[in-house]
Amino acid sequence: MPERISVVEKITKANDQLAELNRIRLDENKVFAMNLMASPGAGKTSLIERSLPLLADRFRLGVIEGDLATNLDADRAAAAGATSVQINTGSCHLDAPMVKQGLNELELSELDIVIVENVGNLICPASWDLGTHKSVLIASVPEGDDKPFKYPSMYRGVDMLVINKIDLLPYVSFDMERFKQGVEALNEGVVTFPLSCVTGEGIDAWVGWVAELALEQNS
Ligand code: MG
Ligand code: ZN
Repeated sequence: MPERISVVEKITKANDQLAELNRIRLDENKVFAMNLMASPGAGKTSLIERSLPLLADRFRLGVIEGDLATNLDADRAAAAGATSVQINTGSCHLDAPMVKQGLNELELSELDIVIVENVGNLICPASWDLGTHKSVLIASVPEGDDKPFKYPSMYRGVDMLVINKIDLLPYVSFDMERFKQGVEALNEGVVTFPLSCVTGEGIDAWVGWVAELALEQNS
């Protein structure tokens, strides 16, 4: 069905062009933006809640929350000290036009970092460039060590991997070596931060990385 393929290509191309415009706009305002992706329940919002207070003394923070229907996550981000915007996607991923809409609602000249929380889903978010500078995948220990093998496209394209809920390692069967081998085969040398949003272990290293990138963007 060549016609159908060309329609898909057109949509992807339009998305990528708009993503580029989003990126230019962020650069012009010296805002560092990242795209947080994960399955539902891996801890995207929890990581945002944990990170914001550690960044708030040095950076002005904005959060774009992509969710199917509710405002719950935007409320949590706002409570943690960020200017937050909720985008109810009605679909399984964010795309560049939705992020443009979110950026329209934020005063970019008054921000240093924008965190985009994508819809919880391990299938398609990675295929949609949003115009952010870095994409981050959050895996979590209870999901199991087989996820890189099952969702290779998500692991292949990301700049950063967070392994959340390491406090649960003693209680679940999660073979860290097997997991890392799977990751390494798909995304060699990807920066990885094992951490726990509950105990706080590993959070400083993660926040340090975010801060470093935000400072680079601001210089
Ligand atoms: Mg969430
Ligand atoms: Zn989707």
